[in-house]
Amino acid sequence: MSYHSPRRDDRNPPANNRQLLTLLALFLGSLFAVIWGFGLLLNNLVYWIPVSVEQRLGQLIVPAYEAEAKDGPAQSSLNQLLDRLQSNLDPEQSQDRNYQVLYVPKPTVNALAIPGDTIVLYRGLIEAAESENELMMVLGHELGHFANRDHLRGLGQNIIVRVAIASVIGNNGAIEALIGGAIANLSQSHYSQSQEKQADRFGLTLLNKTYGYVAGATDFFERMAKKERANIAFLSTHPAPKDRVKNLEKLIEERKYEIGKRSPLPESLLF
Ligand SMILES: [Zn+2]
Repeated sequence: MSYHSPRRDDRNPPANNRQLLTLLALFLGSLFAVIWGFGLLLNNLVYWIPVSVEQRLGQLIVPAYEAEAKDGPAQSSLNQLLDRLQSNLDPEQSQDRNYQVLYVPKPTVNALAIPGDTIVLYRGLIEAAESENELMMVLGHELGHFANRDHLRGLGQNIIVRVAIASVIGNNGAIEALIGGAIANLSQSHYSQSQEKQADRFGLTLLNKTYGYVAGATDFFERMAKKERANIAFLSTHPAPKDRVKNLEKLIEERKYEIGKRSPLPESLLF
């Protein structure tokens, strides 16, 4: 019997291929697991940034928006509306927070959650709103971005990683050096469909807690769905309003929320 028979060698390759394939599968599997784990880590890194660090970031970011804002009756009305919402937040969401609205008298149809517990609301958005309730829904939605810390994700992954590291080692100088890039990223940050959906869900829950009903919850998005996308900042930074209306309607039905009646906008917000 020949030990090195060519036949025997011919019979072996399938087994070797199987082993090779198993190894390859194992290798690819662990590679995907590492990438997935890394993604998950980055996604959750924002929760490691303490509110105090976020507020310190805010002290550096907010003035850029404050310079454009106008203190007056409109801004105080908006802050009264926000206070009503904030008093209905769960304690862990309002703890250490001091939410405020900055009213910017510009025709832009947009609202923005920025670090420093601040919501920037443009005149164009208020003009596009027709009831107090729909404005409250927009504010509630923005509070949802704070709760999910989307406003920190808007700073960009690179900055989040560095802020998280700096806040763990307590390096304030490093945090301050990052602000320029942070402001630039914020102004063009886009939220994903699932981030928006979560913020809508949060806004709806808060609206119902505040009024005991949800009149006006979908009004703003319904009106936006009829507009030309390119001209409206809100539409270029927030995805498909039609889907959002559908999701909200489904939630309202599932949770058996009462619809109730809309309240008019406060006088100081009628332009
Ligand atoms: Zn949003």
